[in-house]
Amino acid sequence: MDRAYNFSAGPAALPPPVLERAQTELLDWQGSGMSVMEVSHRGPDFRALAERAEANLRELLDVPENYRVLFLAGGATLQFASIPLNLGPPWSTADYVVTGNWGRKAVSEAARYLNVNVAADTESTGFTTIPDPATWSVRDDACYLHYTPNETVYGVEFHTIPDVSDAPLVADMSSTVMSRPIDVSRFGLIYAGAQKNLGAAGITLLIVRDDLVGRARQETPGVVNYRLMADSGSMWNTPPTYCWYVMALVLDWLREQGGVAAMAEHNERKARKLYAAIDGSDFYANPVDKSCRSWMNVPFTLADPTLDQAFLDEAAAARLLNLKGHRVAGGMRASIYNAMPESGVDALVDFMAEFEARRA
Ligand SMILES: *Cc1c(COP(=O)(O)O)cnc(C)c1O
Repeated sequence: MDRAYNFSAGPAALPPPVLERAQTELLDWQGSGMSVMEVSHRGPDFRALAERAEANLRELLDVPENYRVLFLAGGATLQFASIPLNLGPPWSTADYVVTGNWGRKAVSEAARYLNVNVAADTESTGFTTIPDPATWSVRDDACYLHYTPNETVYGVEFHTIPDVSDAPLVADMSSTVMSRPIDVSRFGLIYAGAQKNLGAAGITLLIVRDDLVGRARQETPGVVNYRLMADSGSMWNTPPTYCWYVMALVLDWLREQGGVAAMAEHNERKARKLYAAIDGSDFYANPVDKSCRSWMNVPFTLADPTLDQAFLDEAAAARLLNLKGHRVAGGMRASIYNAMPESGVDALVDFMAEFEARRA
């Protein structure tokens, strides 16, 4: 078997033990004589899986009692619309902080349902900075403040939680969840699509404080109504059972790795190595302000962009895959989520030095 190092931003690499277990259990899940895809989501076996996933998740992130954990379909993008429908009455205002294109997309979806106040926007810096929260123009009447702790395309990450508003803090953690410990009690709502750090595309984790459940507008579709989903154990309709199962395996794996504190150490070490390689060379560059460089997504450019394709081709030949930057950002991007081993970063750093020596 020839597993490559997959630097894709998402869907992203999964831990091999998770894939191996899924493979072993595929035809006969827990002695059921069926795959997990073929069993009822309401049966005792699947319910036990759902309970195990939630218990592990609560333990890993130290989720307080007064928060509900939901497993929803539709990706993080569906939450861009679901959040205003659930938290914002018609004609209300919500604050949004835009530090990259995901925050921008969240604004454009929310603007269908309420009045969006863009409290800060870093596009003029090419999305390379995070302005001091004290300078954000938040509104006193905002029903929540939305931000993106890690912008996946530009590689910009908040290393502290902003504290500027009394409105509930809503965070799109799709590309950073489980990469480090977080204080859930600081948030009103956290959500994350699974395909970066939690499993396979098709399921979205949502952690929401009790008092924010039950406020949905009358026209909110049931599948994204937090009250209906919380009261039904996220089984108001048929959930994406296989994706839920894969997430449960990833959560088991995370526990075996020592949890999110161990992940933070591992991720910081990988990021430090890669940024050191970029900064230590005149051939590679990363434009992001050092105070907000992402641990998860590391964009970089080559001094001579006509070499981009050669870099990608030769990297691929060395089994270092999916290093092409997002089409809006250009250049390269190495996504180094939890499942990327340190050996993958070492192999990339070695390849970069060798490519530079040969081609610069
Ligand atoms: C990938 C990503 C999304 C989009 O997720 P979908 O599952 O495609 O809806 C949203 N926000 C962030 C920060 C992401 O990284």
